Amino acid sequence: MQKVNYGRLLDDKLAELEKIGEKPSLLLHACCAPCSSHTLLFLYDHFKITVYFCNPNIAPEEEYLYRKSELKRLISEMELDVDIIDEDYDPEPFYQLARGLEELPERGERCRRCIGYRLRRTAELAKKLGFDFFTTTLTISPHKDADFINQCGGELGEEYGAAYLFSDFKKHDGYKHSIELSKKYGLYRQDYCGCVYSKINRGGEKNGQGV
Ligand code: SF4
Repeated sequence: MQKVNYGRLLDDKLAELEKIGEKPSLLLHACCAPCSSHTLLFLYDHFKITVYFCNPNIAPEEEYLYRKSELKRLISEMELDVDIIDEDYDPEPFYQLARGLEELPERGERCRRCIGYRLRRTAELAKKLGFDFFTTTLTISPHKDADFINQCGGELGEEYGAAYLFSDFKKHDGYKHSIELSKKYGLYRQDYCGCVYSKINRGGEKNGQGV
């Protein structure tokens, strides 16, 4: 089967929006400040963005709160007109979905459920609040399976009747740009993906761009 070029799909969508002069609303699931940095700048001129910090996978609580506060600091220091919706710390849904899958390596079934759960919450909220589109920063990570993320997002979009914005934020040197922006703003760059299992096995996700 031919591989879908999700970066091209996003470029085409942005060109289409520019042509019709529209700036639709977008609910952007954000995993952390470094992954959000390039993504926000890339999308900013095209959408009225609301960032959604919903990551029950992150452990421990101090880490969750720190990643969230770094995201808020970034948005404030970049002086972007972006709203933020954030969730209080509640890791229970993550531990339920990860049950029996604790030992699996990253990019396996536990990760698919983890990503799927966060996308589902985003799709639900996008539908509930009437956003034109929803998407996630997760495709910027070279450690994540962008094909899976996009397929999952597309299916959830259909299920909820909310338009999923296909993406591959690695394109246009997005990942490199996120590292430069992380340096510029002095962002905390975690060295594990997020959950307690990735923390134990840290080293596989160097520089933490894969939450
Ligand atoms: S390694 Fe990352 S994607 Fe996988 S389950 Fe843990 S937090 Fe989720």
